[in-house]
Amino acid sequence: MIELLGRTTEEIKALVAEHAGAPAYRGAQIAEWIYRRILPNLGGGAQATFAAMTDLPLALRNDLTALFSIGSLGEPVTQSDPRDGTIKIAVPLHDGPRVEAVLMPDTQRVSTCLSCQAGCPMACAFCATGTQGLGRNLDAGEIVAQFLALQSQSPRRITHAVYMGMGEPMLNLDNVLRSIHILTGEIGLSMRHITLSTVGVLQGIEKLANEKLQLTLAVSLHAPTDELRRKIVPIHRTYTIDRLLTTCKSYFDKTGRRVTFEYILLRGVNDNPEEARQLAALLKRFPGAVNLIPYNPTSVGQSFQRPETARVQQFRKILEDAGVTVTQRKERGQQIAAACGQLVTEAYRPPAGARKLNVA
Ligand code: SF4
Repeated sequence: MIELLGRTTEEIKALVAEHAGAPAYRGAQIAEWIYRRILPNLGGGAQATFAAMTDLPLALRNDLTALFSIGSLGEPVTQSDPRDGTIKIAVPLHDGPRVEAVLMPDTQRVSTCLSCQAGCPMACAFCATGTQGLGRNLDAGEIVAQFLALQSQSPRRITHAVYMGMGEPMLNLDNVLRSIHILTGEIGLSMRHITLSTVGVLQGIEKLANEKLQLTLAVSLHAPTDELRRKIVPIHRTYTIDRLLTTCKSYFDKTGRRVTFEYILLRGVNDNPEEARQLAALLKRFPGAVNLIPYNPTSVGQSFQRPETARVQQFRKILEDAGVTVTQRKERGQQIAAACGQLVTEAYRPPAGARKLNVA
């Protein structure tokens, strides 16, 4: 069986021509059914079928059923927060691991947060997913399926996608890029409404820069000094903030896109005025912005705490007074375990062979 989810319209055209002898326009119809008509409207766990593609000849539908599968995710565990409309799903992959994705409706936009790996090898100190190690990379169809599963639960059209769920996108960049091309090409999302986050995999940033895509790159910085960043983000043992910023500047020069620096505020760890001043000194002339994220406590035993609101405001003011552009992410779904990886961590334990990245 050849799976079609995760393939572009052109690829589907070629496959159904080669294997079912169908003309190209039939392939385009099938892609339209998969990405715009069936999966965005399918209830959780239900299987999409070729039989539902009623404008295809019956004989072709039978051939397609024999030759191809559409592909989808399993029955999701869903939690929702009625106060802000956030919906979080943990969906099983065909071989067992679960991944999570989040829908965040707002007045102006409807955003999704997508996972690109089952688990994550980066082991960031504050992150629930980082406790799991890496299960495996997701293929493009499994990433797009998260988007479509959430679309099926949203009365409004999803407008934005952020790759900030489970996993490090730069470690699965080919599948992530393929999924981005399907979200923009087949589903119709604007490239400028897509954000790709990285904890700072330099080779990945360089490769992405060469793609010259008009998406937003978000780099998880989380500390203004090498010494502190090494404690929070283990991959940082292999390079320096100076090298990271040089790579980000090169990304800006090649793409013309400003970089967003994510900074999770951990009480007493990286939220001191001195760290705000150090961060301002690093970034005040950099073409980018800082996104402050007060830590969202998880239930998996990390010892970090959330800073008080006044502390967050003080940190923000120091940055802004120094001329740094600051945003603060609207916080969503705290009642539904919306911290990174938390829902899956509660529902799923990784297999014995799950790997963490060796960065020593
Ligand atoms: S914060 Fe992101 S990169 Fe770090 S462990 Fe969690 S999922 Fe992986």
